[in-house]
Amino acid sequence: MTGVPVDPIRRHLYLEAMGIQSWRPRGRSGGHGGQAVEPGQEVAPAVPNAALAQMEATAARPAVWSVPPVSAKEAAPSSGLGSPGLNWEDLRMAVASCRACGLCETRTQTVFGVGRRDADLMLIGEAPGADEDRQGEPFVGRAGQLLNRMLAAIGLDRDQVYIANILKCRPPGNRDPRPEEAAACRAFLMRQIELVQPRIILSLGRVSAQKLLETDEAVGRLRGRWFSFGAAALPVMVTYHPSYLLRSPEQKARAWQDLAQVARRLKSP
Ligand code: URA
Repeated sequence: MTGVPVDPIRRHLYLEAMGIQSWRPRGRSGGHGGQAVEPGQEVAPAVPNAALAQMEATAARPAVWSVPPVSAKEAAPSSGLGSPGLNWEDLRMAVASCRACGLCETRTQTVFGVGRRDADLMLIGEAPGADEDRQGEPFVGRAGQLLNRMLAAIGLDRDQVYIANILKCRPPGNRDPRPEEAAACRAFLMRQIELVQPRIILSLGRVSAQKLLETDEAVGRLRGRWFSFGAAALPVMVTYHPSYLLRSPEQKARAWQDLAQVARRLKSP
């Protein structure tokens, strides 16, 4: 890899957008070797300049790139994947009144999905957490704030994409979704995908990727790769879940590379 010079301010902005602290306060020693990290504390990963140069060379420039205008899309005819033929409002009502699994007993409310109904990019997370269960919207807690910054890093605002989850109800204590819960919820998500007709799906984290792609492969092996989904052969990129990135900030550089691939593909005709 040839050495592309990286402007320090641009580098800072990239890392800032990803929530990666690139400048350390004066008086602290650099590096984290052996340093205790508080839960949730974000530390700067060791991202070598060469890696940053590569990211910058391949990534869309956040401040400059914006999504091309999206043509209005018709509601998709049912492909047989989702709740057959339901329009947005009927689908929302079907989700709100769903009692197909035990999670209906413990939820405060269902969490349907949010964003542009004709978005080019659709994000799929795992399941609502406590904040989402309270507010009825996906990704509104700390992970959601990081997700917003991840989107900003590729020049996208939260309301330019569509965000949904594998599950529409919160599993108690944020435990992993059970297979029967994911299966009961699948038709709702499939219909959301049919209605949005995104150009690209970004799958966030292990549970999302494994359930969506119906595989047991580890997320570390799935991330950064393109998969083809459904009869429409929708491109799916897998990346790390923002909650995982909050716990493992040293992985943010990898997530950035995944996002850069998405940005590149969105930009292409
Ligand atoms: N994590 C998810 O996967 N989805 C949410 O909506 C919130 C946190």
